[in-house]
Amino acid sequence: MKSLSKLFRVGPGPSSSHTIAPFNAAKSFLKLIPAKKVTKIKVTFYASLACTAKGHHSDVAIAKAFAPIPTAFSYDIDTEVEHPLTMKFSAYCGEKMVKEATYMSLGGGELLSHDDPSVNDHDIYPFRDLGEVLSYMKKENIKTFKEFCLRFEDPSIDDYLMEITKAMFETVKKGLRSEGKIPANDNPRLQIMRTAKSMHDRAISSQAKGDKRTILMSSYAYAAAECSACGDVVVTSPTCGSSGVLPAVLYYQYVNKKRTLAEIRDSLYSAGIFGNIVKQNASIAGSIGGCQAEIGTATSMAAAALCYLNGLSLYQMEYAAECAMEHFLGLSCDPVDGYVIIPCIERNGVGATRAYDSYLYAKVIAPIRHNQVSFDDVTNAMKMTGDSLSSAYKETAQGGLAKILQKKM
Ligand code: SF4
Repeated sequence: MKSLSKLFRVGPGPSSSHTIAPFNAAKSFLKLIPAKKVTKIKVTFYASLACTAKGHHSDVAIAKAFAPIPTAFSYDIDTEVEHPLTMKFSAYCGEKMVKEATYMSLGGGELLSHDDPSVNDHDIYPFRDLGEVLSYMKKENIKTFKEFCLRFEDPSIDDYLMEITKAMFETVKKGLRSEGKIPANDNPRLQIMRTAKSMHDRAISSQAKGDKRTILMSSYAYAAAECSACGDVVVTSPTCGSSGVLPAVLYYQYVNKKRTLAEIRDSLYSAGIFGNIVKQNASIAGSIGGCQAEIGTATSMAAAALCYLNGLSLYQMEYAAECAMEHFLGLSCDPVDGYVIIPCIERNGVGATRAYDSYLYAKVIAPIRHNQVSFDDVTNAMKMTGDSLSSAYKETAQGGLAKILQKKM
């Protein structure tokens, strides 16, 4: 498993796979070429990325990274590639091609390149799955994931996670202040207004306690997800598309339950380990595993953080994270027109409330009966399901809601 700093990244939405990773890949490619002499860079998007790059603003992110060098884009859905989110950069001096490198966007902003190994991340945790992590913690009498992580991470991770906490909350606050249209294309069906501020106002005036909590938390999730859709800075948790779930439950705990920033920061160790387990053994990318990999993982992470903040045991935390994922199994990724708007924004709200419910289930049910499904089991089931999903349901905008609404447009 890799450092938590490779799971939680700060960058522009709407998609860690489509904006943060391509932006960083382009910046890295610049170091391989004589940038001052290069007159043009051709960018080829392949497979799923060829279908969704425009809708996710990958071209904008790459052009920004290469500026002032002019960039030309082409889209190739026919060539077979190693990974569905593959891009190739070809640098030209006049008509002569001087350097070429291919990058794969693995999800959550992570990159892999055989031509530019400097972008590749490395494992720092010598464990395969949660079972191994928990066995190690038991043997070493380690009580929290923070204590566990600090055995393997650089000590600077604590400050890093505090910055991540603050960045998450800044995004939520910005989303709650913002109004107006979410920029997509000219399609009238996608002309959607930001909703978070109005939801929040209604939640504040709600008299019913349960409704108030649900709508408040959802408004926080909408706030962050709408920022992501608008290309604002967000935290991958674990991706940009799902970046509303974890910040929403944490912001609720911070504002409404008066948790300190340090307590919220510490909860990210728990959330991060569950996210890392999925990232290592299945996927956190919609293009690989469908939306179960993004919103499902985000919901597991948020449920784990809630358990930490409310003093539940490690067993209860595993129960909550497992429950959160189990009922998202099979969830497809079908962003309408390739934009991370429908169903993505609403799905973040649903994820946040489900994380809370999963925490409640763990609190109440775990002491009554043993959970038959481990977190490793549900992670393996998610991978198996994701592998079986047709590519139409993996971020290609060719199936499900994307197809149905396309027909009505
Ligand atoms: S449907 Fe889910 S996985 Fe797909 S882009 Fe939207 S949030 Fe991401």
